[in-house]
Amino acid sequence: MQTPDSTSMVIVGAGHCGGRAAQALRTAGWLGPIHLVGDEPHAPYERPPLSKDLLTGGKQAAECALHSADDWASLHITRHVAQVTALHPASRSITLSGGQTLGYQSLLLATGGKVRTLSIPGGDLPEVLTLRNLMDAATLGSRLVPGHRLLVVGGGFIGLEVAASARKLGCEVTLVEGAPRLMGRAVPEPVAERALALHRAQGVRVLLGASPHSIARTAEGLCMALADGTQIVADTVLAGIGIVPDLALPGAAGLAVGRGICVNAQLQTSLPGIFAAGDVAEFPSVLSGQLVRQETWHNAETQAAIAAQNMLGGIDGNLVAYTAFPWFWSDQYHYQLQVAGEPALATHSATRALDGDGLLIFYLDASDTLVGACGWGETSRVAKDLKLARTLVEKGVTASAEALADPATKLKAFLSNAR
Ligand code: FAD
Ligand code: NAP
Repeated sequence: MQTPDSTSMVIVGAGHCGGRAAQALRTAGWLGPIHLVGDEPHAPYERPPLSKDLLTGGKQAAECALHSADDWASLHITRHVAQVTALHPASRSITLSGGQTLGYQSLLLATGGKVRTLSIPGGDLPEVLTLRNLMDAATLGSRLVPGHRLLVVGGGFIGLEVAASARKLGCEVTLVEGAPRLMGRAVPEPVAERALALHRAQGVRVLLGASPHSIARTAEGLCMALADGTQIVADTVLAGIGIVPDLALPGAAGLAVGRGICVNAQLQTSLPGIFAAGDVAEFPSVLSGQLVRQETWHNAETQAAIAAQNMLGGIDGNLVAYTAFPWFWSDQYHYQLQVAGEPALATHSATRALDGDGLLIFYLDASDTLVGACGWGETSRVAKDLKLARTLVEKGVTASAEALADPATKLKAFLSNAR
């Protein structure tokens, strides 16, 4: 049993955000003990390849790691493979599944989220899979051989990226989505329509407005019945139906929780010395001030750095505010989509055609300031434009919708209208 140690930095969750925060503590000059506690057997790694290159064989598991084993050793970070079962804010300590207690000076909660599972009859059959971690990817990957019948539930990012990877591997893919369109939560409709057309052109059978009712094992394979009576036979079902942050642990300790762990702009929770970051944190949006939770690589990466800085007391005694603009990408086949800023805050938009069948939609507020951009197209043809569009949003460029839509005006030209 270890006694509470008021000189330790402790991080719960050894995923992307937790791993980066541990590293950032050292970069910021912290020489004392760092304890990184995670319930996965692997050292921290990045998840984006799990639905893409790792499935298709373009990347190996070791290449997803945030650091090599040597790098971890040189950072002198103590890793604990354990689940954190209780937080004790009054004594500034936490309890691990093995019964060990760790004390902290500052604590970071970077616990991500758990996959939602299909709560229908047959949803617990062993051939019904989810994808969140390296072991899930290995299980799914081992099944995706040519001719394998994959039924994907959920037309969000996991569903679409896995559908694209499975088609590349020669699988027969059906995708069912309950909503009337794909990627309804995070991607504007015109881009979702292009993605739908691409998936159908690549041979994915996409059923929208389709509600799974039950799954049964039959002589032909797994048979999913939809609410309208349609039956789909498959060898594997992959549920990509979102994640849910674990709020029981912080809630039981008295931390304020909403749709995530509530933090302020400095990523402080409602209790002293405790910070939260990454998928689990609900924080005030830089653009609107409204509370948001973001489930993206960029959010995990950038919040880790700010959380680490603030765990150490900030800069010159002043805590640092998180001011990064939202951004994410998704790769599907040889296409990429990107969303920067918050398109939902716009009063109007401008659409610009890009090379090939690409498009870029700019989102503007009432004063013609860019609040978001969403682009789509063949990665090799549109990557530069999507990068520039993101920069224009981050710089708060002001421009008319007509000028932004006009392909005769180079995107670079708008940089002179930066805030
Ligand atoms: P996680 O990386 O999930 O880490 C949380 C860790 O905490 C986990 O290891 C979990 O097991 C552990 N944990 C939880 N509770 C406890 C506890 N009580 N005790 C100990 N440990 C605990 N984003 C993009 O922007 N672009 C992409 O293309 C993209 N692709 C993705 C593909 C896949 C397959 C997945 C799953 C995600 C993808 N993302 C992508 C999202 C991105 O990976 C996440 O936003 C990011 O991983 C969040 O980091 P995090 O550290 O907050 O959470
Ligand atoms: P997601 O993007 O939230 O999409 C889930 C999809 O499933 C949504 O379309 C959702 O519809 C639907 N759905 C929800 N509940 C359902 C149910 N009970 N039955 C059928 N459909 C249901 O989540 P995800 O695709 O599963 O991804 C999981 C996590 O990984 C997320 O954090 C995601 O951001 C991350 N990820 C990100 C990327 C990327 O950014 N490129 C790639 C892969 C994964 P509603 O919206 O209508 O609920």
